[in-house]
Amino acid sequence: NPGSSAALARTLVDALSTDPATVAARLRTTFDTGRTKPLAWRLGRLSALRALLTEQSDVLLDALHADLGKGPAEAYRTEIGFTLNELDHTVEHLEEWLRPKPAAVPDAFRPADARVVRDPLGVVLIIAPWNYPLQLVLTPLVGALAAGNTAVVKPSELAPATSAALARLLPRYLGRDAVAVVEGAVAETTALLEQRFDHVFYTGNGTVGRIVMTAAARHLTPVTLELGGKSPVVVEPGADLAATAQRIVRGKFLNAGQTCVAPDYLLAVGDTAAELETQLALAVRAAYGDDPAAAPEYGRIVNERHLDRLTALLGSGRVVTGGDHDRASRYLAPTVLADVSPDAPVMQEEIFGPILPVVTVPDLDAAIAFINERDKPLALYAFTGSERTKQRLTEETSSGALAFGLPVSHLAVPELPFGGVGESGMGRYHGEYSIETFSHTKAILDKPLN
Ligand code: NAD
Repeated sequence: NPGSSAALARTLVDALSTDPATVAARLRTTFDTGRTKPLAWRLGRLSALRALLTEQSDVLLDALHADLGKGPAEAYRTEIGFTLNELDHTVEHLEEWLRPKPAAVPDAFRPADARVVRDPLGVVLIIAPWNYPLQLVLTPLVGALAAGNTAVVKPSELAPATSAALARLLPRYLGRDAVAVVEGAVAETTALLEQRFDHVFYTGNGTVGRIVMTAAARHLTPVTLELGGKSPVVVEPGADLAATAQRIVRGKFLNAGQTCVAPDYLLAVGDTAAELETQLALAVRAAYGDDPAAAPEYGRIVNERHLDRLTALLGSGRVVTGGDHDRASRYLAPTVLADVSPDAPVMQEEIFGPILPVVTVPDLDAAIAFINERDKPLALYAFTGSERTKQRLTEETSSGALAFGLPVSHLAVPELPFGGVGESGMGRYHGEYSIETFSHTKAILDKPLN
């Protein structure tokens, strides 16, 4: 009859709409049915996401190459493989993480039972940046779905090929009633943020982080802010400088330096700078050859604006290796800058590109003071042979994470929380921490009536 066909037409229009209010209402309807709560629904979504990542890996790798020139091995490892690891770890442990946890009851209340359960929040909004445009959408999404929520995701407009692939594939594999993708830039994100969500998970820079938090405050919606900043690396005399340089180079020049936890600058303690610079130049050559522009696994800068911003920083010190660039192909060579003053332009803001400045400090006290005078970093790294130094850095500094002997990789340890502190963000995720983030931890007390 005409009434029901009009209703059907309206349902179809709603299902295809990317209007923020329509999208949010559709996902809330799903959540309100209670359908997302059973373990089976959650595992079903994760298994569909697994199928997407494995069946569509070529499409996704092409998109990542188009957006950031990512080579297939690096893109697989840091985007697809990374997300699959997180997903598999979650599937393996989800039932255990969702089990109610008994709590002790004080004598005065006995007999009674107390326990803690994890309730899904509802509809969550995930806003992602361009630098790992797949992983930074899908890893939070694993947590959101595993915790029993529906989700709206907003990929970055600066990685348009990946954004388009996600918009096409996510609803197809996961269902339009579980996940919606809204593409776009500031206007679309602003419109989305006017809706009421039950959690907003934002990854990106601190300026926009403040905008997101302000918008969320109007609905009293909790936020996770995964931000960035300058992550320092302390290198002490006595560390094996060849091994140190190799590991720093691998972490720094991954994705052409466009990694939130990339080593931003080196604090060379005492007389380490000269030998460290030599070893860094050797390590760059070993990793990318004589002509990094031709290395298949060396990425490109996301756009010309960022390339121009980076090349303007090359005058901040003496070029030890690199410095070459080509605007047309958005190429900037892996670059090490020596003799860099703390006042130099390259030391003022997060570099977020393949430039590695070396700053010399006389001793560990000076290194610790240098770190503590600045914003709390997302990650702090140290290369040292001294357990005393490790202890001092652990106790005397504050950062999202602290890693000795290996930069960047802590985020691939699913049992470690990932997040910042102060200017580098608030909240944390990965593994069980994602379930905590995307759930309400509810207290239950049950005392018999007689
Ligand atoms: P970006 O420009 O892609 O912005 C991130 C998101 O914010 C995008 O989806 C964009 O559309 C949205 N956005 C931009 N302006 C907005 C506005 N005015 N209102 C609402 N939404 C808006 O990415 P970016 O911020 O340049 O990302 C780089 C930064 O992100 C770096 O500081 C980096 O360290 C940080 N980062 C952090 C992590 C982490 O996990 N902690 C990971 C990656 C990147």
